Amino acid sequence: MSKKKTAAQKLQEELFYTTKPAVDADPESFEKASEFCKGYMAFLDAAKTEREAAKVSEKMLQEAGYQPFEPDKTYPAGAKVYFINRHKCVLAATIGRLPLEKGFHLNIAHVDSPRLDLKPNPLYEDGGLALFKTHYYGGLRKYQWATIPLALHGVIYRQDGSAVELRLGEEEGDPVFCITDLLPHLSAEQNKRPLKEGLKGEELNLVVGSLPIEDQEIKERVKLAAMKLLHEQYGITEKDFIRAELEVVPAQKAREVGFDRALIGAYGHDDQVDAYPALMAEIGVKDPAFTTVCVLTDKEETGSDGNTGLQSDYVFNFLEQLCRCQGADKITAFKASKCLSADVTAAFDPTFPSVSEKRNCAFAGKGITLQKYTGSGGKYSTNDASAEMMAYMMDLLDGAGVAWQTGELGKVDEGGGGTVAKYVSKRDIDTVDIGVPVLSMHAPFEMVSKLDVYMAWRTFDAFNRAEK
Ligand code: MN
Ligand code: MN
Repeated sequence: MSKKKTAAQKLQEELFYTTKPAVDADPESFEKASEFCKGYMAFLDAAKTEREAAKVSEKMLQEAGYQPFEPDKTYPAGAKVYFINRHKCVLAATIGRLPLEKGFHLNIAHVDSPRLDLKPNPLYEDGGLALFKTHYYGGLRKYQWATIPLALHGVIYRQDGSAVELRLGEEEGDPVFCITDLLPHLSAEQNKRPLKEGLKGEELNLVVGSLPIEDQEIKERVKLAAMKLLHEQYGITEKDFIRAELEVVPAQKAREVGFDRALIGAYGHDDQVDAYPALMAEIGVKDPAFTTVCVLTDKEETGSDGNTGLQSDYVFNFLEQLCRCQGADKITAFKASKCLSADVTAAFDPTFPSVSEKRNCAFAGKGITLQKYTGSGGKYSTNDASAEMMAYMMDLLDGAGVAWQTGELGKVDEGGGGTVAKYVSKRDIDTVDIGVPVLSMHAPFEMVSKLDVYMAWRTFDAFNRAEK
């Protein structure tokens, strides 16, 4: 039974901007989203670090027929090529029908997530325990990382140049590692600390052993026992830690959250939740008008520095080489290009409503967030997409029937955060921020809506298929 709408109701519908749950526009979208997210959840479990994401992505690209990029070749339309930058970043492209001077369509996301890195000389013994010293990576809330099972991922190079890869704490039967916290009975002093210092950086020490070696004559018996095990299993000595990259990440797997199973809880949504859909859209595109490029980058969480971060030239070197291959002028090509700079944004949290401005924040389940700007405090450190770029995107998303919403990361002057968008637009490329809203961002267990993950994929897919 539907009541007839009044003239004012019709007028309101016509004139007001409102957002709705993504499922309202297409009741079947939840089923499609759930199907898409099966692959996403498997990716989350397999790719907890940038190295693992690059490895898993390379396998997916090879299986989809992508060839290693050769800078001295000319490629026909429809050709699919890829390049892995230093084991940590993925570049994948499909050559378009149009000349490169018409521009690239770039989809960029990042595959590094906040975590704890081992210090160069991490192993020590104290109080009958063997522990690892860590240095946190990215903006994490330190107190969240104690008393949860943690896994150790990464690579160690031995003296002879050979590498050993580590992934311990993920399989059934694996041991896990853990950071301690005080018992409530003895935390009177600690309780007085501000939350930010609930655990301090030098207190993020990982328990890795407790059994001493038999010989009672020597000192550091527990440390030696741990080092002996490491030597037996991986052929390494303590010095080899200095040439290692070992990352401590939450040991749990991605899980469905809620009676309706509509949310996914996992470590590393930021930013695999954009990276996986971008990669899937790149793999799925056939014979596009514009040359599509998917970039999964590293070092976003620490400011995009280094030669695997977006402040380096590696992406633009790749694009320039593509231009050279195809005999195109790179300046003209860059100027005509468009980029979706994908990264997560904050989802409205009903428990902490005061940090958001409800008319301009993103909600879990209302689709992909199209963000004109990020940054903080008077729009510092932001790309700030143009009205023209916003018009292009809104037309594209509405035309493709993608559920989307606008968003701003928190109230004005409440905080904020930047993305890689500004490093792309400084190369004379039209860029806009988009991304999936996340609850508990940067926590060991973040949550996203399956519908928003699916809409991220639909967004990249529509952009890759665009004819203008
Ligand atoms: Mn991010
Ligand atoms: Mn982040």
